[in-house]
Amino acid sequence: MRLVRLIANLGYGSQKDVRGMIRDGRITHTDGRALAADDRVDPGEIRVDDEKLDPPAGLVIMLNKPAGYTCSTTDPGRVVYELLPPRFGRRNPVLAPVGRLDRDTTGLLLLTDDGPLLHRITSPRHHVAKAYEVTLARPLEGGEADTFASGSLMLRSEKTPLAPAELVVIDPLHARLTVHEGRYHQVKRMFAALGNHVESLHRCGVGGLTLGDLPEGQWRAVTPEELALL
Ligand code: URA
Repeated sequence: MRLVRLIANLGYGSQKDVRGMIRDGRITHTDGRALAADDRVDPGEIRVDDEKLDPPAGLVIMLNKPAGYTCSTTDPGRVVYELLPPRFGRRNPVLAPVGRLDRDTTGLLLLTDDGPLLHRITSPRHHVAKAYEVTLARPLEGGEADTFASGSLMLRSEKTPLAPAELVVIDPLHARLTVHEGRYHQVKRMFAALGNHVESLHRCGVGGLTLGDLPEGQWRAVTPEELALL
């Protein structure tokens, strides 16, 4: 693909913007020379403003989502894309959230332009674990872990029972829940089905991936080694 179209598709700007960036010498080869609009270059060898070009396909990032942001692009309120470089919201194909988090849920949100990866992580058939730290309004009664593990809990207006999920009780108001599906408001509805209410929810893991020391509101690219953990 021609340089201008390649870089424009990655959201760095319109084709006109990118031509201007080329004229200004902001698009360079890793060997240091400025690139011209007609050059055909391996994307791995392109730098923009002295930073490596984003990968043209298969970009996976993790965001430590704060409360108050939605995963939608059309929501009138604050959206997670505001926390990312603007070019990520303009990429073609788009960078989509891998399983949405509610506005008030915090923690690990993956975003990718890799459709098959997105499908694999969100499909219940692949059983990718999603781990949540849960704070509850009422003390746990003791039978919740068995109920969640039973694989027979039905959520209101659903036709099939939930797959078994693992609950680890930390104290009467705090627990860690690992689920292997991604149904709508799943964790909140699971506790609601047992007469409790989730006060706060934080996703701490997806597959073998965790946030590590990534500060709230910050993002970083997921490494190939980490991708193998998904
Ligand atoms: N389950 C929920 O209820 N909300 C989330 O944001 C994620 C899982």
